[in-house]
Amino acid sequence: KTNSSVQKVTLLGSTGSIGGSALDVIARHPDRYQVYALSANQSVAKLVQQCQQFQPKVAVIRDVSLVDELAQELAEVAPGTDVVGGEQGLIEVSRASEVDTVLAAIVGAAGLAPTLAGVQAGKRVLLANKESLVMAGKLFMDAVAQSHCTLLPIDSEHNAIFQCLPERHDGLPSAGVERILLTASGGPFRTKPVAELAAVTPDQACAHPNWSMGRKISVDSATMMNKGLELIEACWLFATGPSNIQVVIHPQSVIHSMVQYKDGSVLAQLGNPDMRTPIAHALAWPERIDAGVQSLDIFDVARLDFEPPNLERFPCLALAMAAAERNDCSAAIVNAANEVAVDAFLNEQIGFTQIASLIESVWQSMSPGPVASLAQVMSVDQEARAKALESIGRGAISKPAH
Ligand code: NAD
Ligand code: MG
Repeated sequence: KTNSSVQKVTLLGSTGSIGGSALDVIARHPDRYQVYALSANQSVAKLVQQCQQFQPKVAVIRDVSLVDELAQELAEVAPGTDVVGGEQGLIEVSRASEVDTVLAAIVGAAGLAPTLAGVQAGKRVLLANKESLVMAGKLFMDAVAQSHCTLLPIDSEHNAIFQCLPERHDGLPSAGVERILLTASGGPFRTKPVAELAAVTPDQACAHPNWSMGRKISVDSATMMNKGLELIEACWLFATGPSNIQVVIHPQSVIHSMVQYKDGSVLAQLGNPDMRTPIAHALAWPERIDAGVQSLDIFDVARLDFEPPNLERFPCLALAMAAAERNDCSAAIVNAANEVAVDAFLNEQIGFTQIASLIESVWQSMSPGPVASLAQVMSVDQEARAKALESIGRGAISKPAH
């Protein structure tokens, strides 16, 4: 490959779980990828270590109070790296003219504005930050259509669905798709007696049977809110409605999702549960590259199980499914209340089963209008957060004693 075909990549959220997996893949292919920017919220030490290894053009720290500390540390190990701070810094590295690819791996609503900036600038956008589509799917997809940017899903299920669809099509009906089968592991509490869920700890919730991930998405997997958010994400990515998507619990996490066609065919994508596979797929698409992932040993897998989700066990999934049916800001409200609730659960302020009740009470207390603009979605997000925090603060939702 010549130097001009080297892709310059901005990693939003490089210090996280997805960010680390992406850098692992990128490091295997210096002839293909060069890191333009790395970013973190507050993890200076991790960001410094990554900058030392990858020598990016820019390092962004979201927390502006850490800009000086980061600059001092980088002066020695990465003197060619410029330091910028704040959300504006994230937006700039997404839009920069030198950048070809933006890998969106910030967790939560904080990822929306920087990811959207990459979309609007027409970059190749590799999307892990599902919350941005959940909050502002219509705005986001309108921006994709307007800029003609290439949007590739990294979320393993959506990446699998993408791989099982024809390369070019004008929507699922004309491609002969009957429905999407969105697989879920069921998380660590799939078989735990429902009566014991109120007392589970953050560490138990984060101990995912198959995937190693950041703490927020790990709790979302335990409540299955993650699958609910993914259902909404899939509706936007594949221009379909929730009635065309069936959630399937598949505890082995070997099939990453399936597409069912009207001729009776069902296509599936299989692989070891390692995010480097969908990341490498999206980075190289339409080519294929080595991801460093062990090949799947089908004899080792031996069996694949499937069961329908139980919505009484997983009320967060039911809430997200209801939000998916609504053509308004409900998904943004559910997403924001969930972020606050998960944070409060991780800080041991509320119990596990109160995550769903908090989301439901915040949603019921608001009257969601249509999604009109980024500013309006952000203000709905703020209002839902404030209501959730207020509800926790006044003890309306407090941790049960046990
Ligand atoms: P993580 O918590 O491990 O990492 C999050 C990253 O975002 C870190 O680099 C952190 O510094 C940065 N960040 C956090 N808050 C920020 C803020 N307010 N502003 C700017 N940056 C901020 O999370 P993760 O598990 O890597 O997940 C990242 C995203 O990818 C999430 O949206 C998640 O749903 C999605 N995702 C993750 C996985 C996985 O296997 N981890 C799989 C599919 C999708
Ligand atoms: Mg997923």
